[in-house]
Amino acid sequence: MTVVTARRILVEGIVQGVGFRPFVYTLAARHGLSGWVRNTAGGVEMEVEGVPAAVKAFLDGLVVEAPPLAHIDRVRDEDLPPRGYGAFEIYGSRDGDGFQPVSPDVATCEECLREVIHSANRRFGYPFTNCTHCGPRFTIICAIPYDRPNTTMADFTMCRECRTEYDDPADRRFHAQPNACPTCGPSLSLVNSLGETLAGDPVMETGRLLASGGIVAIKGIGGFHLACDATSEAAVQRLRERKGREAKPLALMVPNMEAAERLCVVSEKERALLGSPARPIVLLRKRPGSEIAPSVAPGLGDLGLMLPYSPLHHLLLGGDCVRPRALVLTSGNRSDEPIATDDTDAIARLGEIADAFLLHDRPIHVRCDDSVTRVASGGELPIRRSRGYAPFPVRLPFESRPILACGAELKSTVCLTRGPYAFMSPHIGDLENYETFVSYEGMIRRMADLFRVQPEGVAHDLHPGYLSTRYAMGLDPTLPRIAVQHHHAHIAACMAEHRLTGTVIGVAFDGTGYGDDGCIWGGEFLVADYAGFTRAAHWGYIAMPGGDRAVREPFRMALAHLLHAYGTWDASLPPVREASDAERTIIRRQIERRLNAPLTSSVGRLFDAVASIVGVRHRARYEAQAAIELEALVDPTADGAYPLVISRKTPAVIEPGPVIRGVVADLAAGTPVPVIAARFHATVVGAMIQVCGRIREATGLDRVVLSGGVFQNATLLTAARRALVSAGFKVFSHHLVPPNDGGIALGQAVVAHARLASSSNRRF
Ligand SMILES: [Zn+2]
Ligand SMILES: [Zn+2]
Repeated sequence: MTVVTARRILVEGIVQGVGFRPFVYTLAARHGLSGWVRNTAGGVEMEVEGVPAAVKAFLDGLVVEAPPLAHIDRVRDEDLPPRGYGAFEIYGSRDGDGFQPVSPDVATCEECLREVIHSANRRFGYPFTNCTHCGPRFTIICAIPYDRPNTTMADFTMCRECRTEYDDPADRRFHAQPNACPTCGPSLSLVNSLGETLAGDPVMETGRLLASGGIVAIKGIGGFHLACDATSEAAVQRLRERKGREAKPLALMVPNMEAAERLCVVSEKERALLGSPARPIVLLRKRPGSEIAPSVAPGLGDLGLMLPYSPLHHLLLGGDCVRPRALVLTSGNRSDEPIATDDTDAIARLGEIADAFLLHDRPIHVRCDDSVTRVASGGELPIRRSRGYAPFPVRLPFESRPILACGAELKSTVCLTRGPYAFMSPHIGDLENYETFVSYEGMIRRMADLFRVQPEGVAHDLHPGYLSTRYAMGLDPTLPRIAVQHHHAHIAACMAEHRLTGTVIGVAFDGTGYGDDGCIWGGEFLVADYAGFTRAAHWGYIAMPGGDRAVREPFRMALAHLLHAYGTWDASLPPVREASDAERTIIRRQIERRLNAPLTSSVGRLFDAVASIVGVRHRARYEAQAAIELEALVDPTADGAYPLVISRKTPAVIEPGPVIRGVVADLAAGTPVPVIAARFHATVVGAMIQVCGRIREATGLDRVVLSGGVFQNATLLTAARRALVSAGFKVFSHHLVPPNDGGIALGQAVVAHARLASSSNRRF
């Protein structure tokens, strides 16, 4: 008699909507096992029975051969008495109180693309083609388990052919929830700004409009894009004017990798990112003499490129319609507003920008902008984590209580934790904008529902004026509130993504964050763990004349630094010439009398000041423009650095005066600006080496964690990593969440968990 064993197995992770059950079905058949498999709210559950060797081989195969989009976090199994199943079956989903991660949206796979471009296929030219390996996920999922009635495809009834694919475990579309075809699925329409349908094939007509210099709002996966021909300077300028976006670089979509390589220098790692299923916008070094309109990215050495990620993009850029070779594809919003997702709303808000609207009737449940990323120092450096990435969770080094972390103010994201997972929302935007704030509240509700998180604590920034802080204060008064200092949150975020525990040296350089002395921090060296920190050192305080205005007008920071360094202004220096007599008088009064001139240790503002002193930029038209342009100028062959004076008090203070005097002396001596830019970067790195060295001497710590928006600067990050590693430090920088405020919610969440854990320990 043959011995039969039986196992019940629960697989957790991203295992729904990725073809996991048909994979299990095929695997069981291959090993001659009987039993069943089903989706539950907690993952995929199955029972298998057969001879012991076959069951073991099945268990091994489950992990090793899993489908490409699956991310298995844990496999639990237990022995059972065999029940004598006659076959292997796929059961319907069972809900419960569990929860599980949801797959991000995935770019069109090769097989689907082949169908879309093959004239004999029934999906030829169909812009909503997808399968279990590709297509929309997070943006269409309203609830778990991931089944069609829980998606925005609920109202589309599958035709017989689609249903057959959907029901066939051997088919690539088995239980592909968004499965659709021209007969039964969503369809396109092209309308004008009055909502009137335009004649002709929507894709062809869109191509024609774009090729003739028009601007078309295109409904995509996570929201609307505004598109125009990227090679037409007139079209790009018109888009900038209408959208109210003066200078901030615009993202491009090009038809394929070859086109990307014609425009930019693309390394192996960058190629992998460009072609990844997430299809982010990748910042790449521009080749000289390209056909791209100059006003796409004025003053910058980089272009943000992405490849088509939906069948519609492939049709628009690769079909046989009249079409531009590259499209500007920028968020469908007026500056500062959230990206439009709803047809009526899009026509209302974008009616004065777009000449036409390419719409479709598949609703977008969750707003998701394109992600932005780059390669720096050999690894991925996320700039904006959104479509294709969110809500893929960050795996924590501990089981977390359920926490809601409300994020910061700009580049807002929120974070919800449950068990070992931290779910970061997609990019939401700047909360000062009312529409964005409404979108922020909606995102928190949706994510809490989707992941079934009932927060036991609410983390927020220390800044009392942030709208995210006020939102936190307005929640259920019985929930504990945990205020987290901005830079501590930055460091904790980077620690969490590397699953670090214990105490580290945290270097947090950014624009602005509220300090616990009421000053504006941003050049901080912290000795930190998750629960707390001490401020070991910081850049010296300098007045920010005009407060927030000094952020938009770098010449104000330059004047403050010059006054601090010299006690007077040399009339020949660029920022002094830039300011009018009246401005100089007011700025001097603001600084001397401390009127609307808060003190800051910000490294971001120091970059602004230096950029203005050397004449690169006095007034910024988008965030960090001056610093970005200064970085773009760096001469990589230059050597030298400016003097550093670091006090011995606690916290130690790095004096900015000697650095500023070094810059001015070089400028006076006629040193080229690219050399000054290089020396300034080297000086900031030098300060890190000296201060981290002192902290290591005093504490024995040798792990350095780099975070804060300044570390989006790839030149600085690369140089800092190299120098710290050769000084014997272990260095950690961001690869999963952005170093800017888009990553801060993760840090808030882990700090809140640690504080709640330690306070409950004290209680018992
Ligand atoms: Zn596919
Ligand atoms: Zn169909």
